[in-house]
Amino acid sequence: MEYGCYICNKLIKTGEKFTFTKDGSVHFDCFIATKRKNVHEEKQEYLRTLSLILDYQLTYLVALLGVKTDDKESQELLRKRISSIEKEGGEITNIIYNL
Ligand SMILES: [Zn+2]
Repeated sequence: MEYGCYICNKLIKTGEKFTFTKDGSVHFDCFIATKRKNVHEEKQEYLRTLSLILDYQLTYLVALLGVKTDDKESQELLRKRISSIEKEGGEITNIIYNL
């Protein structure tokens, strides 16, 4: 994995929570911290809830990415679960991005 974060410009390391927006790859923490500064007061609670959900999703994703197995059936299962949680995380990321 060789992605850089477009906010802090550092390389995203294995095990770090990150997501993708229209601007590219970004650390979860950088993304949320920046958004918190720019989002209107009345949307802060909504942002807080969304960031909690995304945090749980990315924690789950990072855990799944860390599962190693040589079993073909297990690899297929993991591939599908990873793709599903990436899709869900992408949806929440988009809502946050557009706040
Ligand atoms: Zn960053």
